[in-house]
Amino acid sequence: MSPEEFRHYGKQVVDWIADYLAGIEKYPVRSQSRPGEVRAMLPAHPPEQGEPYEKVLADLDRVIMPGITHWQHPNFFAYFPANGSGPGILGDLLSSGLGVQGMLWATSPACTELETLTVDWLAELLGLRAHFRTDSAGGGVIQDSASGASLVAMLSALQRVSGGVAGADGIGERYTVYVSSQTHSSLEKAGRIAGIGAHNVRTVRVDPETLEMDPAHLLTLIDEDVAAGAIPVMVCATIGTTSTTAIDPVRAIGEICRERGIWLHVDAAYAGVAAVCPELRWINDGVAEYADSYATNPHKWLLTNFDCTVLWVRDRKPMIDTLSILPEFLRNQASESGDVIDYRDWQVPLGRRFRALKLWSVIRWYGAEGLRDHVRTGIALAERFASLVAADPDFELRSHHPFGLVCFRPLRTDAHDVMELVNASGELYLSHTKIGDEVWLRMAIGSPATKEHHIDKAWETLRAAGKRISPGRQ
Ligand SMILES: *Cc1c(COP(=O)(O)O)cnc(C)c1O
Repeated sequence: MSPEEFRHYGKQVVDWIADYLAGIEKYPVRSQSRPGEVRAMLPAHPPEQGEPYEKVLADLDRVIMPGITHWQHPNFFAYFPANGSGPGILGDLLSSGLGVQGMLWATSPACTELETLTVDWLAELLGLRAHFRTDSAGGGVIQDSASGASLVAMLSALQRVSGGVAGADGIGERYTVYVSSQTHSSLEKAGRIAGIGAHNVRTVRVDPETLEMDPAHLLTLIDEDVAAGAIPVMVCATIGTTSTTAIDPVRAIGEICRERGIWLHVDAAYAGVAAVCPELRWINDGVAEYADSYATNPHKWLLTNFDCTVLWVRDRKPMIDTLSILPEFLRNQASESGDVIDYRDWQVPLGRRFRALKLWSVIRWYGAEGLRDHVRTGIALAERFASLVAADPDFELRSHHPFGLVCFRPLRTDAHDVMELVNASGELYLSHTKIGDEVWLRMAIGSPATKEHHIDKAWETLRAAGKRISPGRQ
């Protein structure tokens, strides 16, 4: 494709995206596609001859769109939001255009230096302490996901506690990691990948009401394990759990970690970005004093297209010691000078995209004010929804909803049935969780397109669905 052809089709694609976003409400939120349907509409074999790009664009409308669930739709309330935005898309497009592979400083100095600047900016915007800034012993780095960030934190913790032995000779001891029943499943996965073993990822009890990790039980488990000869590696505390946005008592957990020399990782994948608002900085209580690492996802609630997780560490040495490996073909003067950062040593893969461009674009376009507005709007809409639920005796509301997520359940009908009915209607899309044996619905608000009337309409639809399937109601 020549640059002129690219210009021609590129304009069509940008127009297509702008039309898509402008007209997104005409689509059912959740794809109505059945398994195999998308594939069945396409040729089984790749074309022998190249095709005009028009044909690709035509298939986009004909084949791909029916199989799309619209995450940017104002009525998308499932899981957590995955916000995109104009500046985010443009930043990503520029990154694709440059096609930079930023494994080393030397493979594109701007890719590294813009990332350093941007993660330091974000640390400042979130009010994180100076020891997470890159001009300290620590620093931040953009990862593909919170899962990747947890794995990097775990490997760094393993490096620190074993003095590198676990990385060099393999896992010779029994190492343990501590999470709660509410911790994201990626921590168990990280334990498996790191060689610690799923059974050594220990589950700490939570308070049955608040679902926060119980520090007393954490201490009990650590003592038991140490008595049995295990070496505790890491505790993961969560700020804003995936199920209900519970907030673990980071300070109390951190005191235990400090006393026992255990790495504290704080997973704030969804909620961490809320700290752009000074009135929400309380969520990070204890992080400054105790966290060895902290991760949050601008790709969830901060208007930055997937993928963009920022991981900060207090001390980058154990991370670099465990992840750095230097084959001859990567040797270069800049790296050897020690004056530059090579982010390949801060992540699992070698290669890396120029992700800072999209986050930098977002921060510049919105400014701190715009980002705060976005978070505050999401929270205000969640409060609006919560008060509608609270006013209806046929529904129960969970009172904890400091962010954009509201958990609630119908009392007279089956929550699953209500969810399936509204999701199948295509009008809105929400997901569920289980607390104990009860199914709760999760209304995750946070798309920049969502306005008050979407919330009011969503509630009407949910209420009506509750009535339609309630069998014995008078
Ligand atoms: C969403 C979420 C994750 C996983 O995020 P990815 O970036 O998709 O890996 C991890 N932890 C928490 C608390 C989450 O909410």
